Amino acid sequence: MKKYSDAFIHDMPKSDLHLHLDGSLRIPTLIEMAKKNNIKMPSYTEEGLRELVFKSSYSNLGEYLHGFQYTCAALRDLENIERVAYELAIDNQNENVYYIEPRFAPQLMMDIETGLTMEKVFEAAYKGFERAKKEFNNRPEVKNGTRPEFHYGIISCAMRNFGPKGYSPYYSRFYKTMEYSKHIEVVKAAALQMVKAAVRIRDEKDIPIVSIDLAGQEAGYPCGKFHDVYAYAHKNFMHKTVHAGEAYGAESIFQAITECYADRIGHGYYLFDEDKVVDVKIDDTKKYISDLVSFVADKRTTIEVCLTSNLQTNPEIGDIKNHNVKHMLANRMSVTVCTDNRLVSDTTVSREFGLLLNNFDVQMKHLKDIVAYGFKKSFYPGAYIEKRNWAKRVMMHFDEVAKKHGV
Ligand SMILES: [Zn+2]
Repeated sequence: MKKYSDAFIHDMPKSDLHLHLDGSLRIPTLIEMAKKNNIKMPSYTEEGLRELVFKSSYSNLGEYLHGFQYTCAALRDLENIERVAYELAIDNQNENVYYIEPRFAPQLMMDIETGLTMEKVFEAAYKGFERAKKEFNNRPEVKNGTRPEFHYGIISCAMRNFGPKGYSPYYSRFYKTMEYSKHIEVVKAAALQMVKAAVRIRDEKDIPIVSIDLAGQEAGYPCGKFHDVYAYAHKNFMHKTVHAGEAYGAESIFQAITECYADRIGHGYYLFDEDKVVDVKIDDTKKYISDLVSFVADKRTTIEVCLTSNLQTNPEIGDIKNHNVKHMLANRMSVTVCTDNRLVSDTTVSREFGLLLNNFDVQMKHLKDIVAYGFKKSFYPGAYIEKRNWAKRVMMHFDEVAKKHGV
């Protein structure tokens, strides 16, 4: 018998600290938008897209990322951005997710030639999230304290590369005129432009952009190369997370912490793999990894774990029971449970928690810690004292739900 019922998992308060806006659209919405904006897709039915693009398993990361060209095309439209942001918040609220940190790369949606500036992209997303938040927090059960308030913070992603397929109409055109080896200069300049704009828009427009991130192909684009971008965020009271250890090993996580001041790590999947350490100067890889694990655990640098997504992009993991989260749990690291991409991975926060709790031995006290990290280690956009009170309120609700379900 399952230790935790599906009903309990659905009802318990949850957060999602790692979810991409452009990977989390509702399929019917994407189809509607593709028809409206004349976006060419291989199918215009839900079944067709599930068979051809947004599958349940993928053979590699490239195949996993393929669908983003359609979602990003749909999001090069301000009305669409606002709608997708609104719907994403609603989908989360409907499964008792009380905090989300949706992330996106504004560079993929902007197109200066059509007047789609970075500022307009952020404003459109903000409008959608804010509307969903206000509607939820005005509900009688929230007003009377039966359910906690819903909050969100936006994470702005820098891209490690823009790819040759035109994922960014704005930046990809620079690629056509240069050698591939110079791409890193373009992506670094684009990332610096993004972080400066994100800080300015946060301060001038009061839009809750709480953190930056670095996303995209990890191989060939180590995060240390983006030190200047992260230093700018660091000096401007902006939080920092980095996709690291998704395709590379422990050194990538080491760089994220030492060069990019990472407060959290996206995935961190290969942290424990000795054979992923490539630096020849590290002769004792076992010690290097165990020192790093202790350092990350002791600092409570939180790992944003995305189970389904890891299984899909790294098919060699095979069975979920082989997933490295077992080492993270055993080492008592601070982990949170995240979706990565609700559409592309065909998942929900409840489903991800179900996978964790039904495949690994997680006692109630440990589960409560994991849920609490999702709120305490969030980049909540208000004052610390507000965040603290709200996180406490959420955890009281957790106890109420557990009691109701007899857990
Ligand atoms: Zn991600």
